[in-house]
Amino acid sequence: MKNKLTLRKVRWKLTLICAGTTIFILLVMSFLLLSISQKNLNNTHFLSFQNNMTAFLATIEAQTVFSHKWLADAERVGKFQVQIKDNGNDFLFNSQTENETKTLLFEYAKSYYDSRYNPVLLPSPSYHTEFHLTYEKSSYYVCIANLSREGGTLEVIVTYSTADLERLIAGQRILFLAINLAAFLVLLLFAYYFTGRLLAPIAENQKNQTNFVAAASHELRTPLAVILSLTSACKKTFPEEKNFYLDTIESEGKHMSRLVNDLLMLSHTDSHTFSIEKADWEPDTLLLNSFEAFEPMAKENGITLSISLPDEVSAPYFLDRERILQVLALLIHNALSYTPSGGRVDLSLKVFHKFLLFQVSDNGTGIADLEKENIFKRFYRVDKSHNDKNHHGLGLSIAAEIVQAHHGSIQVSDTQGGGSTFTVALPL
Ligand code: ADP
Repeated sequence: MKNKLTLRKVRWKLTLICAGTTIFILLVMSFLLLSISQKNLNNTHFLSFQNNMTAFLATIEAQTVFSHKWLADAERVGKFQVQIKDNGNDFLFNSQTENETKTLLFEYAKSYYDSRYNPVLLPSPSYHTEFHLTYEKSSYYVCIANLSREGGTLEVIVTYSTADLERLIAGQRILFLAINLAAFLVLLLFAYYFTGRLLAPIAENQKNQTNFVAAASHELRTPLAVILSLTSACKKTFPEEKNFYLDTIESEGKHMSRLVNDLLMLSHTDSHTFSIEKADWEPDTLLLNSFEAFEPMAKENGITLSISLPDEVSAPYFLDRERILQVLALLIHNALSYTPSGGRVDLSLKVFHKFLLFQVSDNGTGIADLEKENIFKRFYRVDKSHNDKNHHGLGLSIAAEIVQAHHGSIQVSDTQGGGSTFTVALPL
């Protein structure tokens, strides 16, 4: 439970780090892009205002007379406001269109221009200047021009409100913010899913470790309890009966020792400290050795044990003799244990394609299809009520680890007519 909580915490931390880092980079990039885009937008607008002004002023300069309607149309189309003074006198147009705010803006623009640009009369009598102006928290583009005409000069002030442009920029900012927010949410989901997948094998591993420790403790508890109770009984009994108790204690101790060895071996495979020492060995000799080792047990159990080897002598094969003998012993021991008296167990060796195949086939109880995958799991026993001290459900998982270390595979299938056939395939 605690592990689960820690993993959940790690998952959230990783999610936030992943999504946070990515969104930070995204935000910086968006911010840079946005400022570049807005700078360009401002420049383009200002350039377009300058061009408009050049055209507008050229038209004014070219006309000797221009009507009130023409100026009003120009103002409406260009979305700007104009003030014209002829030799310092207001045009009729001004008095008709200006209100107090407009007049104040023109005055402010003129005084700002005079103070900022300190105009000097250029050699060319006509000139115009465009600049940015902020007046009462609003932004404007302003054009101030002096146009020389017959009989004097025209002083023109044009103001253009950039409110539309600011609205456009504000819209862009909101859009960017919304996109970034949506990206953050998507990233968060993705990172959560991704870290979940990343941590799944760790969680699985942790679960397996916990189950393994629980099962191991459970298996060790029984012989330990027997040893303890026999020890206390031994203390109270007559000296001539002590040997009986001591023999049983020794036998339980041996079971425990075997189990601990198995556990150690699996723990070595888990921590990748399990090593195999390969050398050239003849596989038929190995199978023959195993056959000879189990012949007495087969006889004792009333089971016929047979062996079939290829006709030609097998070439030496690069393997770990002790480990492969261990695998064969586990399979033969199982076959003899799960085959009733009167049954048979056949051992065989074949070379098939590029594989060396060891087969242990019995006509015993067999294994249901649904159980075939499970039997290779640690501490898994099909018949849990079958309480044999030599069977802890670790044999096949150890065999699988050894075969895997040889880059081979182990499989179980049904024997024709009933029973199980275990095949160990080692690549040649
Ligand atoms: P165990 O030490 O209990 O035999 P194994 O890992 O060797 O553990 O085997 C796991 C389970 O697979 C056994 O408990 C048994 O139910 C089943 N099994 C293994 N070999 C055979 C076989 N030859 N015939 C029938 N069942 C088998």
